[in-house]
Amino acid sequence: MTQAVCILGATGSIGQSTLKVLEQHSEQYTVFAVSAYSRLDELLEICRKFHPKIVVVPNEKVSELQQRLNQEKLNQIEILSDETGLIEIAKHPDVDIVMAAIVGAAGLLPTLAAVKAGKRVLLANKEALVMSGDIMMQAAREHNALLLPVDSEHNAIFQSLPHDYLTTERTGQPQLGVSRILLTASGGPFLNHSLEQLSGVTPQQACKHPNWSMGQKISVDSATLMNKGLELIEACHLFSISEHFVTVVVHPQSIIHSMVQYVDGSTLAQMGNPDMCTPIAHALAWPKRLKTHVPALDLFATAQLDFQAPDEVKFPALNLARQAMRAGGLAPTILNAANEIAVAAFLQQRIRFTQIAQVVEQTLDAVQNAKAENIDIILHTDMIARQIAEKYIVDIGG
Ligand code: NAD
Ligand code: MG
Repeated sequence: MTQAVCILGATGSIGQSTLKVLEQHSEQYTVFAVSAYSRLDELLEICRKFHPKIVVVPNEKVSELQQRLNQEKLNQIEILSDETGLIEIAKHPDVDIVMAAIVGAAGLLPTLAAVKAGKRVLLANKEALVMSGDIMMQAAREHNALLLPVDSEHNAIFQSLPHDYLTTERTGQPQLGVSRILLTASGGPFLNHSLEQLSGVTPQQACKHPNWSMGQKISVDSATLMNKGLELIEACHLFSISEHFVTVVVHPQSIIHSMVQYVDGSTLAQMGNPDMCTPIAHALAWPKRLKTHVPALDLFATAQLDFQAPDEVKFPALNLARQAMRAGGLAPTILNAANEIAVAAFLQQRIRFTQIAQVVEQTLDAVQNAKAENIDIILHTDMIARQIAEKYIVDIGG
């Protein structure tokens, strides 16, 4: 029996790595549905190779895609569009596994739909969980969805936790002998830059990560350490642990992908060459294991593993995220929305790198926090925070 996979964001970095793993195990998995946003050439390549039943693109791309599919005699592939199409494939009854790999808030409703349909959901789209927190986790429990982390750190934490940790009581306290989570961070491309140097870095430099090849938005987030801040919030929700029990450790080699400490003095780590195919394969097959092309770690070649505390003065985004998690309610939604707008403005060279965190901080101050009671309030707050962040960017000359 093969399992049918839906990939939300198939043309992106995580989407492509997922397809690479699936291709290697085509006897076990079929690609049932995929979505793309702007890259039609990549989408057509996926259609030729994997023959999905359904593809989803923005409405304005439908006619061009239909023409190109017709030309290639791939017209049996059904085309759906926009958010309704994404939700439809995410909850489709023939789908067993959903890879949530859209970047940003655009992935929230489709990911939530997959969770509510009780799927095995492989979560790469951390912004969806940062925004919706308890609502997403509650929906997973209510609908018996298996929400498995693909983010390399969270996947490493999951691998280092006791086997039944995800189903233990959710109290905010570490359970089953766990005492602390050590969330590792590479430190990004500007780890050793001075504050002055940071203010002059370009989008191109920010997108050149030393260890990982990723989409633009997460690359900038890695450079500001906002990625680690979002991951801190992600870890608190996934593992039901308050931020107080999560320590961020800068580990520039990205060989240890995170650690779990236990009350008896043990520290368990998951290690491997930095390649997202490993956590993707793990989440696809868990509790089984799938072979990947990723070579086993050669410790003699690795030689050195370094650790240091993050510099929260140079990289204030991390602490903004920790404060947002501590404040709770809608604060993480506001943080995420402002960050998405600020990163986009930095990529368009409208603001400086160091102004990203300023925009986030100002927006957090300006938007009223409240209880995140339901998804409509979250979406409304996301919209307001975006408007305020955008206004602040214009005010500072962007
Ligand atoms: P990417 O930019 O390479 O790909 C993003 C995907 O999202 C594309 O397939 C695009 O079609 C789709 N998309 C973009 N905007 C959209 C919109 N408005 N509506 C619908 N679809 C849209 O990004 P990525 O690096 O693959 O990251 C995807 C997610 O995975 C992000 O949330 C990121 O934080 C997370 N993640 C990525 C990595 C990595 O190594 N790349 C690691 C951990 C977590
Ligand atoms: Mg990560």
